[in-house]
Amino acid sequence: MKAQTIILVLSGVGLIFFGVIFLMASFDDTNRIITGAFLSIAGFLLLYFASRTPGTGEQAKRYVVELPSQVEIQSIKCPRCGAQIRAEDITVEAGITRVKCSYCGNVSQISEEPKW
Ligand SMILES: [Zn+2]
Repeated sequence: MKAQTIILVLSGVGLIFFGVIFLMASFDDTNRIITGAFLSIAGFLLLYFASRTPGTGEQAKRYVVELPSQVEIQSIKCPRCGAQIRAEDITVEAGITRVKCSYCGNVSQISEEPKW
């Protein structure tokens, strides 16, 4: 539950409570009916807004990321030492993709094999 909602509920309940007290005291003074009714209505309005206000904790947003089924996440590893190749290690020269290992300095070539 959000803190803002709790405050709204508490002040709403408080207003209704005082409204009822004013209504009960209206036997002595009829003007208190108006005050009591106003406080009660205001309290109920606050409770209404509190029920309408969505709490950030309850309103969990869901993001669905859909990837095509063909997508494969391939990690490139150095053929000599097996270290993970970073994106900055890959260079393309004259159409040839070269991978220079930042750990052992081994330069290898990536050859794309046809998928059929
Ligand atoms: Zn290496």
